[in-house]
Amino acid sequence: MSATENYSIRVEPTKESRLSQVDFNNLKFGKILSDHMLVANYEDGAWTDVSIVPYGDINISPSMSAIHYGQAIFEGIKAYKFQDGTISIFRPDKNWERFNTSAARLEMPEVPEEIFLGGLKKLLSTDSNWVPNAPGTSLYIRPFMFGTEAALGVHPSNSYKFIIITSPVGAYYSNPLKLKVETHFTRAAEGGVGFSKNAGNYALSLYPTRLANDEGFDQLMWTDASEHQYIEEAGTANLIFRIGDSIITPHGDTILHGVTRRTIMELAASWGYKTEQRRVSVKELIDGIKAGIVTDAFAAGTAATLTPIATIGYEGELFQLPPVEGRDFSKKVLTYLDDLRYGRIADEFGWNM
Ligand code: PMP
Repeated sequence: MSATENYSIRVEPTKESRLSQVDFNNLKFGKILSDHMLVANYEDGAWTDVSIVPYGDINISPSMSAIHYGQAIFEGIKAYKFQDGTISIFRPDKNWERFNTSAARLEMPEVPEEIFLGGLKKLLSTDSNWVPNAPGTSLYIRPFMFGTEAALGVHPSNSYKFIIITSPVGAYYSNPLKLKVETHFTRAAEGGVGFSKNAGNYALSLYPTRLANDEGFDQLMWTDASEHQYIEEAGTANLIFRIGDSIITPHGDTILHGVTRRTIMELAASWGYKTEQRRVSVKELIDGIKAGIVTDAFAAGTAATLTPIATIGYEGELFQLPPVEGRDFSKKVLTYLDDLRYGRIADEFGWNM
C-alpha cells in the first residue's frame, strides 16, 4: 500500500448526541465515550470502509481470532483545548509509529498515516465539543486494532478492524507512589514483546499487581527477566530518576518506549541536564537513595504525565525518597508541559498537532 493512497472517510453523524447528559465536572477515567468512533476494516490486503460512525457495539464472531490468539494492540494519546478553542493533539505521530511497531511484532498489518492521523483529526473535528477545556482536563484517545478472522487455528488473522474511540477525562491526580520491586514475576524478556503495546502485556500484569496491592503497594516496579536486578518500568508508565547530576531512564526492548518519557528526556537535554538511557540496577537505585543522591524519581506516562515516587519496597524493606516539594526537576517539567499542551507558550519543538 503506497503512502499516497487516498482514503475517503465517510461520516455518519449520530442522530442523538449524548453530550448534554455528561457531567464534565465529574469525569471518571474511561467511563464516558464520545459520540463518534472511527472504524476501518482490513481485508484481502487492503484497508477499506474507513468511516466515522456513532459510537456503539460491534458484532463479533465467537471464533474471532483476537479473542483466542491475542492479536490485539492499542495506543493512548491525549488532546487538549486551548483558551481560544484550538484543539491540539500531543505528539500523535509518535504513537502512530509505535502502533505500527507493535503491529509488525504481532504479524498485523500497518495502519497508514492517512487513516491513523488523518482519521484521528477528522474524528476530533466531528467530536470537537467533547474535548473538555477546564484546567487539567483532556480528551483521551484510544486507537486499537485486532484480528477479526472467524476461524480457529493459530495463524495470522486474514482480516482486522482498526478503531479509534475517545473519552473526556478530568484532571488527573495521584498520591505519590509506593512501588514494589518485583523479583519473582516477569513482564517481558529479551526477544519477547515488551516493547509492543499489545493487550497480553496488560493481562499478565494483573495478577502480580493485585498481589502487590494486597501488600499495600500501588504498583510494581518490573525488573529484568533473567536476574531481576535491573529496573524496567512501572504499571502503565516508564521510570525516570535523577541520580547525582544525571537524568536517567532504563532502556531496552523489554520496556515500552513511552512518548512521555521520550518528551521529558528531550526536554531535559535541551535544558542542559546530563541525560542517560541505560540499564539501572536496583542496587544503584537503593544505594543512591541511602547516599542521598537520588533527588527525583517518578513514573512518566500519558495518563498522569508525571507521578512522583515516594517509597520503594525491595525484598521486604522500604526505602523513602526525598519529599516531593523539593523536586525541582519534576516541577519544571510539569509546568512546562502543562503550559505547552494548553497553548500558553510557544511550541518550540513542534509537539502540538
Ligand atoms: N509503559 C507502559 C507499559 C505503558 O502502558 C505506558 C502507557 N502507554 C507507558 C509505559 C508510557 O507510555 P506513554 O508515555 O507513551 O503513555
